[in-house]
Amino acid sequence: MLKPLFRARLTRARALLRSARLDALLVCPSADFTYLTGHPMTMRERPLFLVLTPARAALLAPELEAVGARPALRPLPVWGWGDGEPPMELLRARVPRLRRVAVNPLFRADWLLSLADTRPHPSVGSGAPVLDLLRSRKEPGEVRALRAAALQADRVMGDVRARLKPGVTEEALAQFILKRFVQLGATEPWALVASGPNGALPHHEFSSRKLRRGDVIVVDLGAALHGYQSDITRTFFLGRPEPEARRVYATVLAAQAAGRAAVRAGVTGRAADQAARRVIQQQGYGPYFIHRLGHGLGMEVHEAPYLAIDNPLPLPEGSVVTVEPGIYLPGRFGVRLEDVVVAGPRGARTLTTYPLDQPQL
Ligand code: ZN
Ligand code: ZN
Repeated sequence: MLKPLFRARLTRARALLRSARLDALLVCPSADFTYLTGHPMTMRERPLFLVLTPARAALLAPELEAVGARPALRPLPVWGWGDGEPPMELLRARVPRLRRVAVNPLFRADWLLSLADTRPHPSVGSGAPVLDLLRSRKEPGEVRALRAAALQADRVMGDVRARLKPGVTEEALAQFILKRFVQLGATEPWALVASGPNGALPHHEFSSRKLRRGDVIVVDLGAALHGYQSDITRTFFLGRPEPEARRVYATVLAAQAAGRAAVRAGVTGRAADQAARRVIQQQGYGPYFIHRLGHGLGMEVHEAPYLAIDNPLPLPEGSVVTVEPGIYLPGRFGVRLEDVVVAGPRGARTLTTYPLDQPQL
């Protein structure tokens, strides 16, 4: 049975199709699919997707999957197809007007090709603008879930901080983080522990390197709690770091504050990125801030909206985004500080609470 929350989301999605002048939006199993139905399904080789039109919503599925989906999605119609029947022809029979179709970003290329092959050929585009707009505006229940996930990540950050000692490997610390999240009831935990020169690689996961006195250590971690993700980064000094590390830390801290101060509903992703980037540029570290300021956080760790130079769109009210400037000095160290914030009409509220101003171990 489809809960009222998901019926409302499907209705909102269909209303957006009208304004986007789309005849249909097709959504394969993915976070988009789960967001709209509350019923996760697995993408396999046989075409299976939600069909949203301005007038209706349905699931098109191979009959072997349709049998389980019918009770779960009731009253949504489920159009089952048997092996040997072309599913895209079934779609065209059920939705006769199919001139402008959009698909979600994970829609399989082979399904898309067989859809594009049907006649008359539809024009096919990206459904991301519609889906991103829907999912960016977090509902109060989603913000509560993200807040609970953030608090759990804060706690794990505190637990791992107590284990940052000389001789411990990055790998052992990462394994500790994964285990701790699971103990606390989370799923899909992940961890990045980058010490010394490894910290200069923003996506370094972990290695067998042992922590040493004088290391600058970047710890980035997260997990899903009740389907919503956490993501926090802190940087620590083990003993006395090289003198420039304190200057770099202070610069990233100021940039992070500027970024959080810039985030609010209506500000563009580009403007928020620029507000933080300017602080880093003024201190001469511009070339060493080698990624965007942040990303949306929700059912996925990276989702819309992005705080980045190439996002000219205003942040919808209720957007939950990370603010995570960093400076990476190759061969030496890196510093990144990341928090999760909610964009309100007048400013941002920070969901993560772990202190920013205590890097010294
Ligand atoms: Zn992160
Ligand atoms: Zn992040």
